[in-house]
Amino acid sequence: MKTATRLVHAGREPAAQQGMVNPPVYHASTVIFESLDALEQAQQNPFKGVYYGRNGTPVQFAFEDAVAEMEGAFGAVTTCSGLAAITAAIMSVVEAGAHLLVTDNIYGPTRGLCEGLLKRLGVHTTYFDPTIDAQSFEALIQPETRAVFVEAPGSLTFEISDVPALAEVAHRHDLAVLADNTWATPLYYNALAHGADISIHAATKYLVGHADAMLGVINCNEVHYMAVRKSAAALGYCAGPDDIYLGLRGLRTLGQRLPVHHANSLALANWAAEQPGVARVIHPARADHAQHALWQRDFTGASGLFAIVLDAFPRERLAAMVDDLALYGMGFSWGGYESLILPVDPNRSRTATRWTDEGQTLRIHAGLEDIDDLIADLDAGLQRLRA
Ligand SMILES: *Cc1c(COP(=O)(O)O)cnc(C)c1O
Repeated sequence: MKTATRLVHAGREPAAQQGMVNPPVYHASTVIFESLDALEQAQQNPFKGVYYGRNGTPVQFAFEDAVAEMEGAFGAVTTCSGLAAITAAIMSVVEAGAHLLVTDNIYGPTRGLCEGLLKRLGVHTTYFDPTIDAQSFEALIQPETRAVFVEAPGSLTFEISDVPALAEVAHRHDLAVLADNTWATPLYYNALAHGADISIHAATKYLVGHADAMLGVINCNEVHYMAVRKSAAALGYCAGPDDIYLGLRGLRTLGQRLPVHHANSLALANWAAEQPGVARVIHPARADHAQHALWQRDFTGASGLFAIVLDAFPRERLAAMVDDLALYGMGFSWGGYESLILPVDPNRSRTATRWTDEGQTLRIHAGLEDIDDLIADLDAGLQRLRA
């Protein structure tokens, strides 16, 4: 079956729920066991079926089955946010004294985790250029290195790592390969099929898709599944059933939403590239993107998030541009139905590489609005910028 079909049918079992199309949302802490036998049997494997609210409810199992199926994962693990998913995944592969290799374009709070909590626990991180070649990457591996963490493309700067090439090296050295696959979703990039052992999604973004819930989910191969499940459980991560329901509901329309995000972001990027005041645009689906060939080779689409770099303008011109936009909200997160714009400074969270553009970088999320309206609003903004 094609992906769009699987998105609609994965993880569904109407016959087991009185014919209802969608799974029930049980609000649960205690789960009652009918007998000593049943209790003792459940205690043998607290991660199989319902056991205690924190360990999951039917809507969570349905969500995990559906997400796992999208990437051909052995199993998926739900968490209360994307950052919790990253934390649970990393905690499943490190011990005190371990060393991590992380791409320099990593999501800021992932770096915050590495430089804060993990460092205090004796886990050290080396950041590397996401466009590194396999040989230079291999030279970074130390005896204590346990895992490599990639984000392709990075969610501020959109460099794409050659994940299969890095994974080949990593696996020769017994390292786990962790990928933050939030930008592409399982629909446009199968991280597991490209060498990742663990594919992490901030479901808060496109899976939920409506800017109304925090959620994370981790697709794992068989080797890593139980370790990630236990790591998330030990950290006490669990998502509320209503939020998981929103994730599952969002998943059903992902196959229809994502192509619109792709088309709108690419049309906006192509239009912006021609405008005075715009120094360059950064969109993996454009031929002028530095790793466009990798995107073409490994991805089946682009999502709505990209960046434009402006020429140098004073701050008040930038404020005039962004303050009066009608359709682009200014705020964190992305992946909802609505358009967003955010001035960003990539150098705030880079150490191995420098971002050398002189002008302001603007991260744009192209939502599901009509492209003509999105262009007109940005056009008016750029006119205010240049005024
Ligand atoms: C938003 C985001 C996260 C974190 O997700 P939350 O649900 O906000 O915790 C992780 N990685 C990337 C690339 C993100 O954009």
